[in-house]
Amino acid sequence: MTLIDGSCLCGEVTFAVEDKFDEFHLCHCQQCQKASGTAHVAHLFTQADNFQWLTGAQHVQRYDVPDRAISNAYCGNCGSPVPYLSLASGKLVVPAGALNTASVTMPQDHIFYAEKAAWYETGVKAVKEDGFPS
Ligand SMILES: [Zn+2]
Ligand SMILES: [Zn+2]
Repeated sequence: MTLIDGSCLCGEVTFAVEDKFDEFHLCHCQQCQKASGTAHVAHLFTQADNFQWLTGAQHVQRYDVPDRAISNAYCGNCGSPVPYLSLASGKLVVPAGALNTASVTMPQDHIFYAEKAAWYETGVKAVKEDGFPS
């Protein structure tokens, strides 16, 4: 088994998870757009006991959206998304961008695609620059 570690932007919150994920969804729902500030979240799902905080667990805060089984967890110091336990599924949700090494699990689908940002598909096809635009 391969252990992957991850962290928030400021590095206060760190965690480790075994690279054994059941699902990997890109969710375009309006709540995930708000929570991420961008077109979609990229969430890996694993069993709750397949995960441990290494540092900074006391900085983790979460918000549970009323009336919809959606949550957002983030580092209270830098605001970056961090893993959380899904109230709906009981599974551990890991934001893919928080991992320091990519999982072998690849995205399986785009969900809630009917709610996608109006600029998403154009954005995917836009010019690719390796850094700032030249
Ligand atoms: Zn942080
Ligand atoms: Zn969503």
